[in-house]
Amino acid sequence: MSLPFVLTPEHEATLPSGLRVTYRPFLVKEEKVMLTIKESKDSREILRCMKKVVESCLISGAEPSDLSYNDMEHLFILMRCRSVGEGVDMRHTCKSCGKDSDIKIDISNIGLSKEMPAESTVMLTETVGVTVTPIKIEGMMKIVNVVDKDPLSVLEYVVENVFNDQQVYKFSDMESKEQKEFVESLSLGQVQKIMDKIEEFPRVCITTTATCLHCGATEELKIEGMENFFT
Ligand SMILES: [Zn+2]
Repeated sequence: MSLPFVLTPEHEATLPSGLRVTYRPFLVKEEKVMLTIKESKDSREILRCMKKVVESCLISGAEPSDLSYNDMEHLFILMRCRSVGEGVDMRHTCKSCGKDSDIKIDISNIGLSKEMPAESTVMLTETVGVTVTPIKIEGMMKIVNVVDKDPLSVLEYVVENVFNDQQVYKFSDMESKEQKEFVESLSLGQVQKIMDKIEEFPRVCITTTATCLHCGATEELKIEGMENFFT
């Protein structure tokens, strides 16, 4: 005898990059992973769990490993809304009276903090330049715990192509030694130019309101970064 299975609903969504995907809500098995996210203090562990959940719940439209970190975060929040609901418990400090309230905020209003930059090319000299791309989850996992000590570590994961007036080289096709050599050959000014371009990329942003339980003042909140509302 085989047990009957409950049919899981499927949903469609358009991600910040424009990809259209089909996904399902979390099930009990993913809820266990969610607990780790709530309890872990280690950013890499949190990202690993997020990736695991997205890999399980993404049905079609994209390969999880190809998603930018932004797309993955966006999708994760949507999955969360469809499974547990839109409400997330949060501690809020009121700007009017300065007191803390434990409130529930609505995370369903997800967007981007700004427009995508129109141009992803950074010229380093007259003829040599790079194109950059938003960081992916793998890169994020590699740099998250080291980026404070080694800010340059991010470059390996955001440079897409290196080109001159003759040829375009795909950065991910280069050997890691060559990648390192390239990064180390850059001047501080050139690094800054690349970093400035990366800064132009938007982040996932939730717009919501919070009402103070003490004085009733209502504030609009813009929350960027998953770590700010699931931990
Ligand atoms: Zn207040």
